[in-house]
Amino acid sequence: MNINVAVRVRPFIRFELQSADNQCCIDIEGNSTIITDPKSLESEQFLFNNSFWSHDGFVEREDGLCLRTSSKFAGSEDINEEYSTKLLNNLLEGYNSCIFSYGQTASGKTFSMYGIGNTQGIIPYTCEKLLSRLNNLSENEILISMYEIYTEEIYDLLVPKTSWPKHGLKIRTNSDHEFFVENLSKHPVRSPEDFQELIRRGSTNKRSFQALMNQIAGYSHVFLILELKQRVNQEDKVLEMSSFITFADLAAKQRVFACATLEKYVISLNSSIAALQTVVKNLANPASRGGVIRYRESALTRILANALGGNCKTYMICTLSPSSKYYEDTKKDLKFASVVK
Ligand code: ADP
Ligand code: MG
Repeated sequence: MNINVAVRVRPFIRFELQSADNQCCIDIEGNSTIITDPKSLESEQFLFNNSFWSHDGFVEREDGLCLRTSSKFAGSEDINEEYSTKLLNNLLEGYNSCIFSYGQTASGKTFSMYGIGNTQGIIPYTCEKLLSRLNNLSENEILISMYEIYTEEIYDLLVPKTSWPKHGLKIRTNSDHEFFVENLSKHPVRSPEDFQELIRRGSTNKRSFQALMNQIAGYSHVFLILELKQRVNQEDKVLEMSSFITFADLAAKQRVFACATLEKYVISLNSSIAALQTVVKNLANPASRGGVIRYRESALTRILANALGGNCKTYMICTLSPSSKYYEDTKKDLKFASVVK
């Protein structure tokens, strides 16, 4: 697969630092991420296009334990700059791109894509940079759409909930056999304030945002599409050309809950991630796929079909906690990320 894959390790969060069984099980060497089994102390190394470390110097605990921070440090600005440059170059040259975050809950997916608190993520950074790079907005148009996949149904996050169809929007195929979401609203953007307002509106409209007293906040797949319409003069004709960046903040698999309402939701979410893993495995190993890639298994895989197996330039950021508490899940994510690459 021709996907650019990076690992981003976040710093410990307070909960981890306060637990007795917390050690650092991740190290980075160049572009490789190394994970060490806290019991056997055996290590495994995975090579990616990039491995980013977010610790800023040594982290010292009260008991004197020092965590390894030997590696290349990359803060949000470095990462935002790296990706926005690639994404915007593609966009302005007329190529479509997709960037998605993948990792356990609380590993830093939303932090990387949207930003949290005062730290800007890739999406607002890229949007603002695009505005500053386009000097003639009358020749160009920027449009934003935002939607959520929730229990296999698609909801437009930028229109009032009262106008949502009962079972969400439909996924259709166009004349090039590419999947697209039908009747998605598009909103013009002319200033950074327009972006901020649309992202704010979209985030508060999420089904998962209000559902069940926020117990499942962040447990849905959220897509933001940025479209650039450029008018180009060719000989004596004016051509209109559109290119897109798809930003996806994917939810992670969850352990099944006892509560019935949540269970239905979690099963649907988990099967969408399982479908994604199958598609990726089959694409990486064509001999195993029996000729067909099963994109139709879930809404998520249909929407990502072009990003995974089509003519789109695709980037994945696999976010990780450095804590040995999640060693097993983190190792699974590293294995998945190395298949994607
Ligand atoms: P996810 O979306 O994967 O569930 P979040 O993005 O919400 O996880 O991040 C979980 C917590 O970790 C948040 O409090 C966030 O501020 C913090 N965090 C995540 N990544 C980083 C990072 N690279 N640097 C500093 N803090 C981070
Ligand atoms: Mg999140």
